[in-house]
Amino acid sequence: MIKKINKKILITGITPETLKLSSILAENGFHIILADKERKKQHAVKSDDYSLSSINNKNIKVLYNTQLTALNGQICNFTAYLKSDDSIVEEQIESVIIATEVTEKELENKKGLAFSEFKEKVKKSCNSECSKLSISGITPEKIALYIDNSALSRLVFSSVMKYAELCKNDFGIEVAVYTPDVLTAASNLEADYRSLRESGVVFIKYTDRPVFSDKADKTVINLNHPETELNSIEYDLVVSAEKMITSEYSKEQLKLMNIPNYNNIHFMACTTPRKGIFICGNGREDMLEKEALNDAEECASLILSDFADGTYEFEETSVEIEKTKCTLCLTCVRTCPHKAIEYIRDSIDERAVRIVDEACFRCGQCVSECPTKALSLIEN
Ligand code: SF4
Ligand code: SF4
Repeated sequence: MIKKINKKILITGITPETLKLSSILAENGFHIILADKERKKQHAVKSDDYSLSSINNKNIKVLYNTQLTALNGQICNFTAYLKSDDSIVEEQIESVIIATEVTEKELENKKGLAFSEFKEKVKKSCNSECSKLSISGITPEKIALYIDNSALSRLVFSSVMKYAELCKNDFGIEVAVYTPDVLTAASNLEADYRSLRESGVVFIKYTDRPVFSDKADKTVINLNHPETELNSIEYDLVVSAEKMITSEYSKEQLKLMNIPNYNNIHFMACTTPRKGIFICGNGREDMLEKEALNDAEECASLILSDFADGTYEFEETSVEIEKTKCTLCLTCVRTCPHKAIEYIRDSIDERAVRIVDEACFRCGQCVSECPTKALSLIEN
């Protein structure tokens, strides 16, 4: 079945990647509402290539001090409630893109420089194409990136690997990563880990927390393992990784969009379990700006292919309901992983569940969960 659409999309969060996404979609005739919770223009993230002034396309409406407070409906037919001060406006949209973010939580036992601060300095040096990395007046030749047990997660590990690579390959710095474990079970992390080791980055696994001490202008890390040769090593700079978690605001937004597992979005794809809702950018993974901009292109191409030529194509009638067998227990509404089943209540006598064909993935879970066998998957 083919449905004509109005090509209207809501993007929550102004970041370099959503600015790029907005401009690609606007150039393809989409009408974009770009909303940010921040009150002022200058709080929105700036980027050299994608500043706010570069998106003066008439198809993009930028709203500050605006938050999504509810989202009803399904792909092609969402109603978004956007709150600004005391007023709430309704917008009919076909798709939503949320730009997620992470929060970095400082550790109690921080050693040396905070990783978030270090990342900013590395990014600055990369952007200005310096061949040396200079931090607080020193040009380090030997750096330790330290991950405390309380901060370790795949997101932190992958982020530390990323910056270890930049330090080693772009600035020729000797890098050692101290970590209680190696967490590589996601996307290409295993391959990245291997190639980093081959390029000379040393990964030092520890069991007991190392001991840190100062010696002249160096920091010494002592592993406290008399049997190891790497017992005591001096570094020009020690950097401590903070805990990284999905920000509360991103979690709230994902929850109100009814995205399952909204607490754990790291390394999720751009697509979500719900058709028409996408995630873009830094909250899924600690991306460098160029990677986040590539992510925006990927997200844009998914939307362009979903809504090719201003239409949306889907299979008509995917799951059949035998009304006489249905007891309205709502098990199917609760368990559909794609939130494609709605409960309709027109009056006391007219109550029913309805499969939204546009949103259904034909996974069959509702069919196997229905206790009265009222549902069946229709063969193509
Ligand atoms: S699970 Fe089956 S019986 Fe329960 S509401 Fe859904 S279709 Fe009806
Ligand atoms: S087949 Fe059933 S459970 Fe699966 S997406 Fe469709 S409605 Fe949801």
